[in-house]
Amino acid sequence: MRIIVHNAKCQGHARCWSQAPHIFKLDEDGYILPGDIEVAERDELLASRGARSCPDHALEIDRSPDELLDRFLFNQEPGGFK
Ligand code: SF4
Repeated sequence: MRIIVHNAKCQGHARCWSQAPHIFKLDEDGYILPGDIEVAERDELLASRGARSCPDHALEIDRSPDELLDRFLFNQEPGGFK
């Protein structure tokens, strides 16, 4: 899974960071660093929570069609398909 970072939308709330500081890196002013984030499978739940917590929609979750199909067929994500 990948998180697409829309850097220009970031308002520096740090909500993403508070969910997963090891995934979402902020600059010294509290804004997300530019560049998409490749997320390891073990970190997907935390990364999803962090991305969805952004009130400015600066973080977009990008899953490949294969990943989506796997989740749909095997319901691998805790709490069901999202
Ligand atoms: S990406 Fe969103 S939640 Fe994270 S620091 Fe920027 S505005 Fe805040």
